[in-house]
Amino acid sequence: MSDAGKIQAPRGTFDVLGESSSARATLEAKARSILEGAGYERIETPAFEATELFARGVGASTDIVQKEMYTFEDASGRSLTLRPEGTAPVCRAYVEHGMHKLRQPVRLWYLSSFFRYERAQAGRYRQFWQLGAEALGSEDPAVDAESICLLAALLEEMGVASVRLRLSSLGSPAARQAYREQLQRHLHAHADSLSEDVRSRIDLNPLRAFDSEHPGTRRAMETAPLLGDFLSAEDTEHFAEVRARLDAAHLAYQIDHTLVRGLDYYTRTVFELTSDALGAQSGVGGGGRYDGLVQQLGGPPTPGIGWAAGIERILLAGSPPPAAPAPVDLFVAYEPSHDGDRPLEDRPAHHAPAGAFALLTEARAAGLTAQMELAGRSLKGQLGFANALGARYVAILGTDETVLKDMLGGAQDTLAADAVVHAVLRGLRTL
Ligand code: AMP
Repeated sequence: MSDAGKIQAPRGTFDVLGESSSARATLEAKARSILEGAGYERIETPAFEATELFARGVGASTDIVQKEMYTFEDASGRSLTLRPEGTAPVCRAYVEHGMHKLRQPVRLWYLSSFFRYERAQAGRYRQFWQLGAEALGSEDPAVDAESICLLAALLEEMGVASVRLRLSSLGSPAARQAYREQLQRHLHAHADSLSEDVRSRIDLNPLRAFDSEHPGTRRAMETAPLLGDFLSAEDTEHFAEVRARLDAAHLAYQIDHTLVRGLDYYTRTVFELTSDALGAQSGVGGGGRYDGLVQQLGGPPTPGIGWAAGIERILLAGSPPPAAPAPVDLFVAYEPSHDGDRPLEDRPAHHAPAGAFALLTEARAAGLTAQMELAGRSLKGQLGFANALGARYVAILGTDETVLKDMLGGAQDTLAADAVVHAVLRGLRTL
């Protein structure tokens, strides 16, 4: 067949099907049980938001806002952006719905797709899925530790191998500003050895220099001032309390003051979980505190902390237990034709009879899981299909009577079509 006329999914996007779809269902079920068990409620925000939300919330100098957003004007001329991340939308919803009036902290989780115009490669896509959890309204270090522990627990449940937790504190905006100036001074002094990219962003985003792989930049960063030395007494104390709680939970971590996250809103605790099982894209999830974000979006001063983890990365690095296929209590088969060439009813011989459909709907209404033959297979083919589905019972409709086969025990009964559902219900109860 020629490729002419075929349309493919855009670069950096993919279809979710088959095993991948069932692995995702397992992950979603585990996330729900872990997070809802800890008091988090599910939230869904719109796929697109006012561009201003991300410009203001994520930060105008970040890579995301500068180069990665899918931004468009709608027919009325408003600038909208496909969400590139989940925290700013959740904070927008918190403000919009007056959630500060609820009991604090308000804890919300999401599993949604996000959009970034990035260089597509294994583990890095343009539409990808993130699972995230946000706790708003408490600055207690126990909330930080709880948030991190929940992500670690989820990764463990999903069998993600060789996970490492890196932890740091970015301190208050004031401490960060003082540090930023010192760092800029250092970078200017070493400008000659820096990569072009880092040099051009000394004023806009000096912290990103720590992320660079460029050898000259890396050398220059070895003697760079570290944020840890600039924290206020309160921030240092908060960070110590977070660590003490992680220790109490026996969760191992490495302190890494060069940890910078690609978003501007973080304050105090930041963390990242990586897996050595992944290649270059080793980040599985990460997050941190954003104590100023809600206020920045027009809400009351509200502390917050959260994380996001990439679904594709979790599945790449993990070994999710396969989800059990949905059981089929009854498969409705029929004799394609009988009595020589005469079809059962007034219908093409390969179309299922109305009686089969009636039995299917009757079975479902009675609470059974049921499927029927829809592809005009031979009776042998229908039985093979029912077997592949793992159907417990198969009803074979004939003209006057119906045969009900117990696929588990092999027993076979002949009965009237309207007695089938009752017989299956009775059979299942005796299991
Ligand atoms: P971030 O919001 O950038 O902190 O990303 C959090 C997590 O989402 C990362 O650790 C990755 O697991 C995942 N992630 C971020 N960007 C992408 C992408 N373009 N493709 C796939 N996963 C991603």
